[in-house]
This record gives sequence, structure tokens and C-alpha cells, in this order.
Amino acid sequence: MHEVSIAQALIELIRRHLPAHHRLVRATVRIGPMHGVVSEAMQLAWSIVSAEAGWPGVTLVIHDEPWRLRCVACGRCWEPETVDEPCTCGCTRVEIMGGDEFQLDSIEVDAAIPHVNQKIRGTAAAAR
Ligand SMILES: [Zn+2]
Repeated sequence: MHEVSIAQALIELIRRHLPAHHRLVRATVRIGPMHGVVSEAMQLAWSIVSAEAGWPGVTLVIHDEPWRLRCVACGRCWEPETVDEPCTCGCTRVEIMGGDEFQLDSIEVDAAIPHVNQKIRGTAAAAR
């Protein structure tokens, strides 16, 4: 399944952004149609891969980005259903302006409990 490798790439990307001693709660991504991702398959892949990565129960929010085309002849920009849709002026020469997005939009984190415990122990030791 193609979505599994995308989910794995996403985990690697999130690891680089996740603050130390924090637990991931939710991740939001933008994915363009160029990646051919099926949302249901992506959710399934995410639930497996994120659990393997030690992040069970993390919500993945997927924003499907549209194709964005620009007509070479008249300069019109629009969001077509399919990437090979011709312009309303009849021109079939178009530039792809968007649809290849694969972007981590945001992550939501919680302070992890082990870190809190460490802090409490540290304070107790200092008070002695
Ligand atoms: Zn046109």
C-alpha cells in the first residue's frame, strides 16, 4: 500500500518537529492529488504506522488539496476535477500551479507525564 510509505515519511517529518518530552495528539496535513492518496487508506495506514512508532491514538487530519491549473493562452486559473481538463477558452495547454502539496500543516502536542514526574522529583530534592 502506497499510503504506508507516505505515513512513514510523515512520522519522520513529525519527529523532527516534535518538542522533547511532548506527546503527539494530532497532526494535520495537506496532500495534493498528485500523490494519489486515498483518505480512507491513508487513515488506515496512519493508525498502523503511528502505533508502531509509539504514538497510538494520534488523530490524523487530512486536507485534500485541489488541482490548480493556469491556462497558457488566456491566463485563467481554476481548480479542475481532473488534471487534463481543458480551459473554457478551448486551450488545452495548461500549467500545473498546484496539486503536488505534501505538507505538514500543524501538530498538536501534550506535555508527557514522565517529564512532569521528573520535574516534581527535582523540586523535592532541591527542597531537602
Ligand atoms: Zn484559457
